Amino acid sequence: MAEIGFLYTEIRHAVRHLRRWMQPRRVPTPLAIQPAVSWIQPEPYGQVLIIGPWNYPVQLLLAPLVGAIAAGNCAVLKPSELAPRTSEVVAGLIARTFPPEFVTVVTGGVEVAQELLSRRWDYIFFTGSTAVGRMVARAAAERLTPYTLELGGKSPCIVTADADLDLAARRIVWGKFFNAGQTCVAPDYLLVERPVMQSLLERLKGCIQRFFGPDPAASPDYARIVNQRHFDRLAGYLRNGQVAAGGQTDRDRLYIAPTLLVDVDWNAPVMQEEIFGPILPVLPFDDLEEVIGRLRQRPRPLALYLFTRSATVRDRVFGSLSFGGGCVNDTLVHLSNPHLPFGGVGESGTGAYHGRFSFETFSHRKAVLQSLPLGDPMVRYQPYGRKLWLIRKVMR
Ligand code: NAD
Repeated sequence: MAEIGFLYTEIRHAVRHLRRWMQPRRVPTPLAIQPAVSWIQPEPYGQVLIIGPWNYPVQLLLAPLVGAIAAGNCAVLKPSELAPRTSEVVAGLIARTFPPEFVTVVTGGVEVAQELLSRRWDYIFFTGSTAVGRMVARAAAERLTPYTLELGGKSPCIVTADADLDLAARRIVWGKFFNAGQTCVAPDYLLVERPVMQSLLERLKGCIQRFFGPDPAASPDYARIVNQRHFDRLAGYLRNGQVAAGGQTDRDRLYIAPTLLVDVDWNAPVMQEEIFGPILPVLPFDDLEEVIGRLRQRPRPLALYLFTRSATVRDRVFGSLSFGGGCVNDTLVHLSNPHLPFGGVGESGTGAYHGRFSFETFSHRKAVLQSLPLGDPMVRYQPYGRKLWLIRKVMR
């Protein structure tokens, strides 16, 4: 669903629509510069560098490549060193599929990424953490290289009292514990209107049981934490509140149970840093306006989810908060619609891709105006003198 299936959708969509995306696009020409025709002609940037993270190591490396190839670029891919087996597989696949001067994989860690970033590129596409994104932007600034940054952040999920709680519980548990919470757009924490807090918690627990069985460690559908450093970081968050469900850990097996955390303070570390794991803080609220006020003071997140039946609440929340993208009454799935741009805003990223937006991201929009041989109005040429009134009229 998240790696190969997603990619097939992206590839199919690009193959189906590429001919149209590639067409130069005619645009109007103002009267003052007539007779002429104008158009926008997409052209490839040239050589692009794509750096990927470990959490969806196939999709997040190859989906940008679909856009890069569609737009006509050559690409160097740098997969994450934290998913070494997948990196090997992807490197082999790319080597067997493309001539190396067209698409090449360079494997390695931070030093390799830094070495690559010190070279000249025509475009840099980075997916990863906000901290490293800042370094990428700095490196790009050295050579004034254009870039896209697909970063992370704390994506809130709001549930109002009128929401369909059964649906909310299913979709929140699915979206949060998919890949054990190691998803950039996973709901990071939950804000629930106080009167329905207890009933939602019961339903969330019920869904965890139903999806992963009485012992999620035995479920073939429940993932592990990527490494011990992340395991230790996540285990630390379990002390930031009361465990309402889950909480079991096994460091040797990098297992953390799907966990609901209540009695969490807004200032606790778990509410300050991106969680990126299977721990869901659930905080009650009394007043939606207070929630909006609070969220407006935080960095703009990559995603926001809202469960409500009210169009007024939807318009209020989506109209007053800025975030990369999101869903009403669902989680995660906005990113699998190739007709929607996917990307962050502010600290959660710069630029967007998927579908046509990928093609546009990897294309320079070259502006062309062709003068037509239909005469040459003398009004533009000096001396202006008595022609000024006409120039004013045309320019207005
Ligand atoms: P990361 O930033 O640690 O690493 C990403 C890539 O950058 C890796 O290939 C790594 O080798 C390289 N890198 C690491 N340190 C570097 C440095 N100092 N200089 C240059 N390159 C360096 O991110 P991660 O841990 O692999 O991924 C998790 C993060 O990515 C989370 O914050 C998550 O939210 C974010 N993310 C965002 C998206 C998105 O689409 N917006 C998708 C997945 C993950």
